[in-house]
Amino acid sequence: MARFDVLIVGAGHAAAQLAVTLRQRKFEGSVLIIGEEAEPPYERPPLSKDYLSGDKSFERILIRPPAFWQERRVDMLLGRRVERVLADLHQVVLSDGSVIRYGSLIWATGGAPRKLICPGRDLVGIHYVRTRADVDRMKEKLPRVEKVVVIGGGYIGLEAAAVMRKLEKHVTLIEALDRVLARVAGEPLSRFYEAEHRSHGVALRLSAQVECVEGDDGVMSGVRLVDGEVLPADMVIVGIGIIPAIEALKAPGAKTSNGVDVDEFCRTSLPDVFAVGDCAAHRNRYAQGATIRLESVQNANDQAATVAKFLTGLHEPYDAVPWFWSNQYELKLQTVGLSAGYDQTVLRGDPATKAFSLIYLRRGRVIALDCVNAARDYVHGKLLIQNRRAVSTDRLADTTKPLKELVAAATA
Ligand code: FAD
Repeated sequence: MARFDVLIVGAGHAAAQLAVTLRQRKFEGSVLIIGEEAEPPYERPPLSKDYLSGDKSFERILIRPPAFWQERRVDMLLGRRVERVLADLHQVVLSDGSVIRYGSLIWATGGAPRKLICPGRDLVGIHYVRTRADVDRMKEKLPRVEKVVVIGGGYIGLEAAAVMRKLEKHVTLIEALDRVLARVAGEPLSRFYEAEHRSHGVALRLSAQVECVEGDDGVMSGVRLVDGEVLPADMVIVGIGIIPAIEALKAPGAKTSNGVDVDEFCRTSLPDVFAVGDCAAHRNRYAQGATIRLESVQNANDQAATVAKFLTGLHEPYDAVPWFWSNQYELKLQTVGLSAGYDQTVLRGDPATKAFSLIYLRRGRVIALDCVNAARDYVHGKLLIQNRRAVSTDRLADTTKPLKELVAAATA
């Protein structure tokens, strides 16, 4: 039976970063990555951006060229799924029944798209955006598509809508809540993005509930809303969140909540089993100590680095400021910190100029910023979040002075 010192399950962002960091830190042991998808690790964000639009080839979104992994002696078993974890035996069982032993196991499986549950959910023509294969299926059909209905006004839905408009499709976006980005951003940001999408020709249906997907002969033809309106469609794109892929860790008894629970070193409750990235639920001080899952490249990379350090003798707790980005049309949004729990917002700059920041405070301290085409605010805002001093809201709003000066004042 094969044995690896480090066995990483999932071949995504976190897996790649973990293997890279292990080798950077001169880890000499054997490393195996097992991934369900056929491809070596690639960047997922372009799937709803320039890979979907056709502006970037697949080769350009590979995290490392294939030769890199060979040179670094990182073995890969791709197109294979881990079905069971026998934690007491330090073994995993693959879908083909083969068994592999490990010294340390790192669970880096991300999540599967949350599926529609309404009637018509299995009709052909409904698409989810999580893997290269998902997007290739969409791209193959796009030349024959005129009308697209996007379900979900989160980042993935909005990005997909922007790409579809660039490709000159008719786009309607359905959001169940009364504004887009409601779960992650304050109202001014939501309203700004709604206006941008409308000005680019996207029809928005807010506070709209999907009754069913309609179709003939197994093929989707449109989406019916609860109020009776039917939106004809040649393609439906669904972006309504993910479900963390943690079933195989639940069976041997790992503690779970909204993900696999991990401590500050990303250790699960199972011996020598770690979890990182989208599937890992951790206490985050930027969320006022709440246990959360983050779905971001930053979190996947930084948690992976935490584990790689831990395995090479450096015990540095995970404590990174969360950050995220989203590209839609000509707008580059950079978010830093977590806005949940804010009690005040400050608008810095004028949204009409398409370069501004929305700053979130809690008890007088900056906890997050959404920066639209405002990279400097993003860089300095991160420092404001880290040093946790009370700051004047008038100064935050004053665009004649860079946030940098406030950082200096708060640190003095
Ligand atoms: P993933 O990258 O999802 O990798 C997990 C891998 O594990 C997958 O390949 C999966 O198939 C595999 N796997 C699952 N179960 C098993 C099993 N049992 N056995 C073997 N393999 C398994 N983040 C940002 O910060 N900015 C963005 O702009 C952004 N845009 C995004 C756009 C899209 C369309 C998507 C889908 C995500 C986006 N994200 C973005 C989120 C970001 O991509 C994720 O947070 C990141 O990929 C998480 O990395 P991960 O390694 O935890 O999981």
